[in-house]
This record gives sequence, structure tokens and C-alpha cells, in this order.
Amino acid sequence: MVGDDLERLREEARGLAVEMVRLLASRRAVVSRIAELKRLAGLDVIQPGIESVLRTAMVEEAKLHGLPAETVHRLASVILADSAAAQERRQGPQLTHMDILRRAVEMQRSGREVQRLEVGEPDLGAPQEVRRAVSEAVFNGFARYVESRGLPELRAAISEHVRERFNVEVGPEKILVTPGGRFAIFLAMKTLLSPGDELLVIDPSWPMYKQCADFVGARPVPIKTRLEDGWTPKIDAVEERISPATKAIILNYPNNPTGKSLSKKYFKQLVELARDRNLTVISDEVYADYTKGEHVTVLGEDLRYVLIQSFSKSYGMTGYRVGYVVADESLISKMASIIGLVMTCVPEFIQHGAMKALTLKETPKQYADIMMRRMDAAVRELGKIGAKFYRPDGGMYVFPEIGLDGVDGMKFALDLLESKGVAVAPGSIFGGYDSFIRISLGAPEESIVKGIRLLGDYLREKGLA
Ligand code: PLP
Repeated sequence: MVGDDLERLREEARGLAVEMVRLLASRRAVVSRIAELKRLAGLDVIQPGIESVLRTAMVEEAKLHGLPAETVHRLASVILADSAAAQERRQGPQLTHMDILRRAVEMQRSGREVQRLEVGEPDLGAPQEVRRAVSEAVFNGFARYVESRGLPELRAAISEHVRERFNVEVGPEKILVTPGGRFAIFLAMKTLLSPGDELLVIDPSWPMYKQCADFVGARPVPIKTRLEDGWTPKIDAVEERISPATKAIILNYPNNPTGKSLSKKYFKQLVELARDRNLTVISDEVYADYTKGEHVTVLGEDLRYVLIQSFSKSYGMTGYRVGYVVADESLISKMASIIGLVMTCVPEFIQHGAMKALTLKETPKQYADIMMRRMDAAVRELGKIGAKFYRPDGGMYVFPEIGLDGVDGMKFALDLLESKGVAVAPGSIFGGYDSFIRISLGAPEESIVKGIRLLGDYLREKGLA
């Protein structure tokens, strides 16, 4: 008897779940028509006012049925993300940044000279002392399974480094050694965001943020900034995008791709807003040492934050895959358990290399000097070709606008590569900035100067300058 009832109810529950899928499909068809009308009217895909009307209607309905608001907010985020995806879908196969990289390598292999200004990797390499320390560590058998949080000696050294560099006390219990900054960002998102939660991302942004949020089932909510405003996010625009599903905001200053750093005052305003609205700040500060002025950090701020750091840029240790996180102890424990689960630990000999790096007090300054000299050269050359751009405060990129109205940025980048042998990253990948390109300072100065001059020739020949 019980068995029959159970089977009937299960069938009914299945039917209702399938019905929800049908409703989603019908809604998508309506959304496609809305997208068409928005395109005709030149409106943005995401319109916060309209989204909040939908959320409120759903929550009101939920109340009538005694459903938890939290569940309904998650459902709203899934529905809204589906709408945005349906509206953003374009026709035909999309070219990606990887196509440019692949083609540049292919051209170099076939003997052509290519100015490689598309890569996000400094060409400086790790200091000799680090290379030696890692080799010795391998020879001396420092290659065991070790603590998932990282070696106590390294965490103590990071704690000391943070105190010296930023004048902030952070105990080793708040530090986690990670396989690079990228994995640290994944750990932060995986521990802070549940499916349906929202993450605020300030555009232009490093594409990994949105991809990673998507990957953990959360919804990245973009906040557009403009060159005309010096790439400063407007506080009320940030506030407008906060919904009951928003759990965190990711900040990245100095910024990839714009080179923007926020003033201390402005950074604090953003942090205060996050604190008032109970959001966690994920602060990606991997370019902290590549800066012209004083770096503004989230360290020491009185709110829940996750600081992302890396040895890749400050010490040229990209392939070593080592970075670290500073966060409160409960978050560190959760993140450490993920490292334990998937990889046990960062290799012990690599951690020895990181410890050696922290003793080289001059290296980050020397590397930063090289980057800032390259930046000055890039700024000078871009000025000569009449490009509009924000003069970077730091980082390792310049992000000029090159008047590509109506030109597909990805096709532009591929054509520039084929005809002049200059590889750049198209602005479209940083949040739809189609008329911009990102020039990386990860290449030698001669290459940057030559690349920008060739870009100028190309723009003139095409009548774009
Ligand atoms: N964050 C930003 C903004 C970056 O541009 C990069 C690398 O290019 C990283 C984080 C990650 O660097 P890594 O994983 O090498 O530490």
C-alpha cells in the first residue's frame, strides 16, 4: 500500500519538475523576443530595475506558499542567468583569445617575426636564487606530502612579509598557500558562493572571474565602467546591482586590463558599502608590486575579505604555480580542505622556492621598475599614434581605445596579427569592450615599441586613425 502511494507521489513530483523545465523553455522563447526588441532599442542586456521587479514578484509569491525566500532568490538567479545567456548568444562559432595565441605561435614557428603583446605573463623569469633553492630542495628530498595549508615556515614567512610590506598583522592561521593566484580565486568562489548566488564583477575584468563564477554555479553580475570616468566604478551603480542573492564582490587593483588603481578614499568607500551590505570582498592584488604609487590593499580592513596573492608577477614565478590567500580562519579551513581533497598540497620544493623569494627584498622593486619603464614607453608610443587610453597607475597592461565602431574586435586582432605580425588581446573578452585592445607589457621594450608603431601603420592604412 505504502509502496503504491510512494510511487504515485514520486511520479507526480517528477512530472512537476519536468513541467518546470517546460516553463523555462517557454520563458526563454519570450526572452528571445525581448532581446530582439532591446537590440532594436539599443538597451543593455542586464537592467537591474527590471530584475528586482521580477525578484520581488517571486518572493511575494513564495511567501503565499510558505517557501523560504533564500530558495526563491537562488531560483531567481538561475532564471535571470538563463535570460542573460539566451540574450547574449550570438550566431556562428566564436573566435577566442586562444585563437590569437595559437596563430601567433604558429606564425613564429614558421619563421615570421611576431610582437607578442597578447600574453599575460611577465618574461622576467624567477631569480637565480629561487631556481637554485628549488633544485637544492629537490635534491635534498623535500618532496613529501606536507600540510594542505602550506609549510608552517612558509606561512610564518608570509605573515612576516605582510607585516613588513603592508604594516598589517596577519597570523599564519589566516594564511593558505595555494597553487597560484588563479586557483586561489577558484577556492574563494567555491567556498563563498553556492549555486544561484551572485558575484559582482567590475568590468572590464579578467575573464577568469566570470568563467569561475559560472563554473561554481553562481551568477556573475557585471558593473560597467568607462574610460571617460577613468575606469572608476560609480558607487551607486555598484549599489544598484546588489540583490538579496549577492554574496561577494571581486576587486582587482591594479587592474587587468586597464592598469587602473583606486584611490585609498574610493577603495574605502567600496569596502564600506560591501560591509554595510554584508558582502565579502575578494581582492585580487596579484599586481600589488607593479605600481607607480602606493598600493591600496584590503588587508587590515574591518570586514570579511579574501586577499589573493601570487608569486607569479612579483617574482616572475609563473610556472612554479604558487600564491597565497589571506582570509579569516574558518574560510582558510574550508579552502585548505579543498586543496587536501584534490591535490594534497602545493609541492614542498616549490614552497622552498617561495620562501627563498620572500628573502629577496629587492626583486619585486627591480621587476616593477622594468614594467614601469615599459609602461612609459607604451604610453609614449600610443600617444604618438593618437590612441585614447587611461594612463595606467600600475599592472602590466595598457588598454587603448582604437575607434573600432562597427568592427568586430576579435577579427580586428586576427587581421592585425596576419598583416603586421602584432598579437594583442581584443577588448571583447574583458566584458564586451569591442573598440579596445589590451597591450601587455610582458614583452621586451623594443617589442612593445615596434608593436605599437606597427599598430599605428595598420590603423592609418585602414583609415581608422
Ligand atoms: N589575477 C589576475 C588579474 C591575473 O591577471 C592573473 C594572471 O594573469 C592572476 C590573477 C593569476 O596568476 P597566477 O595564477 O599565475 O598566480
